[in-house]
Formats: sequence, C-alpha cells, structure tokens
Amino acid sequence: MTDHDVTVLRLGHRPGRDERMTTHVGLTARALGADRVVMAGSARNQTDTVVDITDRFGGPFAVETTDEPKRFIREFDGAVVHLTMYGEPIQDVIEDVRADREAGPLLVVVGAEKVPFEVYEHAEYNVGVTNQPHSEVASLAVFLDRLFEGQELDREWEDPDRVVVPKETGKKVVEPGDGDED
Ligand code: SAM
Repeated sequence: MTDHDVTVLRLGHRPGRDERMTTHVGLTARALGADRVVMAGSARNQTDTVVDITDRFGGPFAVETTDEPKRFIREFDGAVVHLTMYGEPIQDVIEDVRADREAGPLLVVVGAEKVPFEVYEHAEYNVGVTNQPHSEVASLAVFLDRLFEGQELDREWEDPDRVVVPKETGKKVVEPGDGDED
C-alpha cells in the first residue's frame, strides 16, 4: 500500500438533522483508514467528537473544517472521488482509483443533501456503492474497505490513551503499556 493520503470531505450538513451522521462520517473515515476528514463550516461542532475519539483511541488522524468546500474540491491536488448512487459501480472503477492513489493523494467526497452538479463534473470518479439510495456512512465504509483491500482492519494506532482488547464475550479496555494488550 502506498502512503499517499486519503482525505474525506463531508459536503453539506443540515444542523439539527445531520449531527450524528456527520460525526459518523468522521469516525468511519478514521476507523477505516483515511488520514483526514474535512467538514464544511456548519458542521464545526461535529469535529469535537472525532478529535476526542482520536485523542483517546489513537491516530494519526487529522480533523479540519472549511468554509469553502467547493473551492477545496477545485483546488485539491489529486484525484477526486465523489460517492453517489448515480455513479459508476465501485467494482468497475476501484482498480483505477487505486492506481490514482499510487500517483498522489485522494479526496473522497460524501454528501448530505443534494450535491451541486459541479461536484459531479469536477470529480474524476462518480462512484456508486450499488445504485440504490442508502447512506454516506455506509458508502464511505464500503469504499474505504475496497480501496484498502481490507488492510485497514489490521492498522496499528499511535499514542492511544486506551486500547480495546478483543474478547469473545464482554468488554475489556486497558491503558497501553500495562502488559495486558495481547
Ligand atoms: N439525493 C441525494 C443526492 O443528490 O445525491 C442523496 C443524499 S444521500 C442521503 C447522502 C449521501 O450518501 C450522498 O451524497 C452520497 O455521498 C451517499 N450515498 C447514498 N447512497 C449512495 C450509494 N448508493 N452509493 C454511493 N454513495 C451513496
């Protein structure tokens, strides 16, 4: 796997309606291998939860905001993938997307409400995770897992305050370095 960064842009956010969804876009981006999430201006409050989880469970993972998401897309120095139910099937394009990430950074755009048509036009790839309507969180999760071919599941986290020890039953969370992590 190359080291070129994967950024997720949460485009659009309806205050009061999208709070949890926007937070979950950030958490899913982090957990499934992206390097950074960028949230549009009105989603600023949602960044706190993602920063807090990164502080507690480890990184690196960057959380940023932008007041100009369309400009952010236009000026992104790399390939742009827009996840949309109207796009080409992910299984048909993911190898080309991976090749583009070999060459440089990747921007993955997920919407909330109607996405402006200029985003469809600017994106190198409009990608459907099925051509059925569902959710930005689900489409992002499947996209990242296909992009990284499952390798993100074995990722090591740096500087966590706590580590979950997988158990067949029950919950076990330890502090790193107490010898109980394996
Ligand atoms: N009608 C909206 C539109 O114009 O795209 C869809 C809104 S949907 C609730 C919110 C976001 O979920 C979309 O912008 C897209 O990023 C993502 N999404 C929903 N279904 C998808 C699918 N089948 N494949 C890829 N992304 C999807």
